[in-house]
Amino acid sequence: MGVKSCCRKGCDEIMCFAYVDDIGYICRDCVEEFKLIMTRKGHAVDNILLIRYIDNELTKFVKDNEKMLAVSTINLNEYFDWYSLE
Ligand SMILES: [Zn+2]
Repeated sequence: MGVKSCCRKGCDEIMCFAYVDDIGYICRDCVEEFKLIMTRKGHAVDNILLIRYIDNELTKFVKDNEKMLAVSTINLNEYFDWYSLE
């Protein structure tokens, strides 16, 4: 634990639990919420996952939290509509 601001969008926590390269500091509440979201996607916390995949999911979690929480499933067209540059 250290006095560092959580990098998650909208989180005011300053006592952070972890630091992830290229992502930033993250607090314990956000870590637990991220685990919950991943569990809902079918990834139990003890499942073996690619580190790159976790990095990508965590990056989306800290940056696009509102979208992530609004829906847990999506079709491919909607997914790319979110990330569309137009
Ligand atoms: Zn947080």
